[in-house]
Amino acid sequence: MIRLSVVHMSRCSRVTFLLVALAFASCQTVSKEQRKNTSRTFNTVVVDAGHGGKDSGAYRRFGPPEKVATLDVATRLSQKLRESQFKTVMTRTNDVFIPLDTRVDIENATLNSIFVSIHFNDSRRRGIKGFETYYHSPYAAELAQRVQNKLCAMPGAVNRGVHTANFRVIRKAVYPAILVECGYLSNRAEGYEARSTEYRDRLADKIAEAIVEERYGAGVYRAAFTGQIRPPAPNPPPPGEGPGSAPQTLRDN
Ligand SMILES: [Zn+2]
Repeated sequence: MIRLSVVHMSRCSRVTFLLVALAFASCQTVSKEQRKNTSRTFNTVVVDAGHGGKDSGAYRRFGPPEKVATLDVATRLSQKLRESQFKTVMTRTNDVFIPLDTRVDIENATLNSIFVSIHFNDSRRRGIKGFETYYHSPYAAELAQRVQNKLCAMPGAVNRGVHTANFRVIRKAVYPAILVECGYLSNRAEGYEARSTEYRDRLADKIAEAIVEERYGAGVYRAAFTGQIRPPAPNPPPPGEGPGSAPQTLRDN
């Protein structure tokens, strides 16, 4: 805990203090005491479509830009979770750039939640393929393993394992948080698969099934093909007002 008196500072040093405080906050890891284990109680899932806007993510000739594939899988995942009676909050619902710290703010402001970040992978070695799932808090380890197991049950899937990582969106999460790498866009086979609506729906389906199992146990999830999803809205909705945003009661906290 840093204790500094802001009152007696000059304006310049106040600015410096704020900058230092912000830098401190942005590299901070959530402490063990701050972490909450909601893996058996969560009623809301924060679904994070990786990248967006000026940040395309992985961009390879075999697959779509990563930001497009992540948004589609995330939107499908959100719909499937809603069909399973969860509330969902999406960090973005269209092609817009959202800073990592804003994503963290959204997840930590959403009470009794878990956080699932959707990405696709990239490698200079085109032969590399497969699924990877990452977590930081031990409370998210089981969820990460479940998601990985479900994805790896898909035909021809390559299991590249569950790992801990220091990615900001999972390191700074108060609630259990995972990051899923849904295959390599740099690999010919997985890149082409990522172009397919049916395949992206299956990815979302497997992740949704794992999430429902984590909360309610096996055998509860009912898979359904979501079909073509709605095209993105022409203009980004104001923060907190778009489809999939948090209910008023959550946003006020
Ligand atoms: Zn990514």
